[in-house]
Amino acid sequence: MTTTITLTGAGGQIGYALLFRIAAGDLLGPDEPVRLRLLEIPQGLGAAEGAALELQDGAFGLLEHVEVTDDPAVGFDGADLALLVGARPRGPGMERGDLLAANAGIFGPQGAAIAAHAASGVRVTVVGNPANTNALIAAASADGVPAERFTALTRLDENRARAQVAQTLSVPVDEVRQVIIWGNHSATQFPDLSQATVAGQSALDALSTTVGDVRAWQEDSFIPRVAGRGAEVIQVRGSSSVASAASATIDHVRDWVLGSEEWTSAGVVSHGEYGVPEGLISSFPVRSENGSWQIVEGLEIGEWARARIDASVAELLDEREAVRALGML
Ligand code: NDP
Repeated sequence: MTTTITLTGAGGQIGYALLFRIAAGDLLGPDEPVRLRLLEIPQGLGAAEGAALELQDGAFGLLEHVEVTDDPAVGFDGADLALLVGARPRGPGMERGDLLAANAGIFGPQGAAIAAHAASGVRVTVVGNPANTNALIAAASADGVPAERFTALTRLDENRARAQVAQTLSVPVDEVRQVIIWGNHSATQFPDLSQATVAGQSALDALSTTVGDVRAWQEDSFIPRVAGRGAEVIQVRGSSSVASAASATIDHVRDWVLGSEEWTSAGVVSHGEYGVPEGLISSFPVRSENGSWQIVEGLEIGEWARARIDASVAELLDEREAVRALGML
């Protein structure tokens, strides 16, 4: 059966990187045909149409159809998977409230269009920032679609964290497992190594032999590096991270749909797990079972970790309050 995938912001950079991975079968596997719906705002239509021409020229055997539109009713029609990448970037002099309001004006109507037009089992992944709160707004506007179907991408943060540990220990990244991202996809996120393993052994033990004081290394080096990696890429590359963000989006959706025995991290709706207020979309350790994310429960959270999780969750609460104050929730 063909899977219908809607991509917003399809004319943007991340969209451009994502489309060709999807068409090549990296998302759902080499035997799964896909239909793409590229949703853009009018100014972005040309770039999306250009990408559609290149998709044709890629002669991808799995790609059955590509549609480009600026109408959300058409864009989300029959969508099994919705990748919400397009968002309003922070402009010069823009306050946080303005940014939240501008994005609420995008993600609210998109949530409503998803409820009205997408397939009944639609799964939504928000990449556009502020991703967690944009996902919350979309979910709140999607009457009849369970909030569990709306997620925010924190997989790039996890991938960055795993890569840092692997680099530090000079081991293949695949040996680094169970790194958790808690909270918001922002500078307050907490990349947590307390459960992490390297080739099955405690990552913290392995790190202490390399870096000495692991707590100090986490505070002074690891956490700022992971949380600030986007800025580091901009500084070195001269423009924002694109291919790695697209790659993490593929990882997130593939694991969600196909299942993941390993833990990973995703922004999912809280039912109060780990003291995170109900209804917030916060990053947790998760496993995908039968096509739904399940939060890994019962982990012990130490005092140091608790304070960091609470700080990031406080930011999510602030964002929710700000959107409520604007009457958009
Ligand atoms: P990108 O494709 O580079 O980024 C898209 C979004 O992804 C931004 O919100 C960006 O956040 C976010 N993002 C999340 N994680 C990362 C990461 N690790 N690195 C970089 N970005 C990340 O933006 P472009 O400006 O190239 O393209 C955006 C497109 O979206 C445009 O074509 C525009 O027309 C379209 N758009 C479509 C809408 C719609 O379909 N209704 C609505 C609004 C815009 P951040 O800004 O914080 O970097």
